[in-house]
Amino acid sequence: MPDKDIKEEIRLNGIEASPGICIGKAYLVDKEGVDVIEKYFIDKKNLDNELKRFKTAVKQAVNDLKQIIENIPKEVRNHTGIIETHVALLKDRMLYDKTIETIKNERVNAEWALKKIVSGIKVMFQSINDPYLKERSNDITYVSDRIMKKLIGSEEVNIGKIDKRVILVAKDLSPADTSQIQLDKIMGFVTDRGGKTSHTGIIARTLEIPAVLGLGNATKTIKNDDTLIIDGSTGIVIVNPSEQTLNEYKEIETREEEHKAHLSLESRFKAETIDGFSLPVMGNIELPEEVAAVLNHGGDGIGLYRTEFQYLTRSDFPSEEELFDKYKKVVEAMAPRPVTIRTLDINGDKALASSNGFDEPNPALGLRAIRYCLERPEIFITQLKAILRAAAFGNVRILFPMISSLDEIRETKKYLNEAADLLEKEGKPYNKNIPFGIMIEVPSTVIMADVMAEEADFFSIGTNDLIQYTLAIDRVNMGVAHLYHPLHPAILRMIKHVAHVAKEKNIKVFVCGEMAGDPLNVPVLIGLGIDELSMNPQSIPAVKNMIRSLNIEDTKKFLKEILNQNTTNDVIKLVEASFGNIISK
Ligand code: PEP
Ligand code: MG
Repeated sequence: MPDKDIKEEIRLNGIEASPGICIGKAYLVDKEGVDVIEKYFIDKKNLDNELKRFKTAVKQAVNDLKQIIENIPKEVRNHTGIIETHVALLKDRMLYDKTIETIKNERVNAEWALKKIVSGIKVMFQSINDPYLKERSNDITYVSDRIMKKLIGSEEVNIGKIDKRVILVAKDLSPADTSQIQLDKIMGFVTDRGGKTSHTGIIARTLEIPAVLGLGNATKTIKNDDTLIIDGSTGIVIVNPSEQTLNEYKEIETREEEHKAHLSLESRFKAETIDGFSLPVMGNIELPEEVAAVLNHGGDGIGLYRTEFQYLTRSDFPSEEELFDKYKKVVEAMAPRPVTIRTLDINGDKALASSNGFDEPNPALGLRAIRYCLERPEIFITQLKAILRAAAFGNVRILFPMISSLDEIRETKKYLNEAADLLEKEGKPYNKNIPFGIMIEVPSTVIMADVMAEEADFFSIGTNDLIQYTLAIDRVNMGVAHLYHPLHPAILRMIKHVAHVAKEKNIKVFVCGEMAGDPLNVPVLIGLGIDELSMNPQSIPAVKNMIRSLNIEDTKKFLKEILNQNTTNDVIKLVEASFGNIISK
């Protein structure tokens, strides 16, 4: 309902990250919680208390970090170095002693003194030319934030514990945060940062929660309990809507729900083109619980099971048994349909909770995915064993992320064999005869596709990263989000090359990036000869609907025209003119 005390209606524009409309009350999650620090003076008699307050906060921060170190399993203890550095930094002269001096000399509150000292240190670090030292300024921010949170008593909001129906408003939400969202409580969310293919956006679509990201300053404009309308299809957020706006959106919401219900009914049937060519339409999942969404939306299997989310919300690593248990549940629930389990793709924009503060200067190009796993064989083999064991219970394919060289495939196979040998020795049932696939998401792998095809049973094109790495566009940077488009002619040529090689080498080629979930891209992908599409479960009905309206021969002719276009806009115009009417029915 609109507020009685007539607040002005404000419209904000962001990135349309997850479709749908929701209307509800704002709930601000200040993940950074330490922005607004007030200065006040401490009189002489309270000075000791203030100093004690600061020292206690540091002690608590040290204890928290030590606790994190203790919870890291023995096998990976050698990676606790960065956290130990943070423990040492908490007591560093530059930070600790100087803050104490400032409280004493200036008689100011501990928060203010800490803020002042930290700003000084940061300025000093930033003026140093050495990139390593520059980066260390992040460590200072990290540890000082920890002390600050203790001082102001602001523990991080636990999203999993929110107990009313609200729309989350945050500067940013990490994949770990979003994976704790309870569907019966969170109606939607808006963030200042993030983009369409950021993992936060992907989870929003999977959870079918309307979301608008990359708003820039939503957290400054929106206040707790403001009424919000989120239109996740257009990227519009309306704060304190008028009665008239509210009614308009309620009508749109009803119409959209009716259309969705209609498509949903049809989605149980297979997707077949007019000329009788059928194409599996699969679901992408992040958590085992999402299997239900894939089945409810008529998914023909799981084309991408992103397994990293089981690692993100904890400070230790899951055991083989824990992983096996989850994978087996998914595999059994989907059987006999295929389940494509992708091995750990952490870092990049999905950092481990335990690596907080261990920022890589360029995470997308860092120790991510297969690179991380090959450096941490204990963690990798634990996961491979769990996957091979789950494969004994249904139809499993294994998929490896971010492959960029043939050596990585060979090394991966070595560990896969090692995992099977261990299971053999341990006498545990497993199945090693499963299709071995690689993600095609790095340009070097596209160029080497003919060589890679000799070692793989299938290719799965990860367009989210392929676009990022080909067009040099950070997928989470809203400043360049307008340049990020799957229908860029360079991306189409890359997919065409991969599909051509796959046909020649007689292996299957799938697309599991977000591109596959937009019905407008489907005629192009089918024309390019893609064998299977995988997407957020909620996109399945609309994609199946599009496939049913196509004719394979026509899509091949259409593709020729598409490949003649030299700009993204020309491609989009042509696709919209030819197929836009099917979507807006
Ligand atoms: C991709 O890159 O397209 C993909 C499917 O993988 P992710 O989004 O998990 O990086
Ligand atoms: Mg990827």
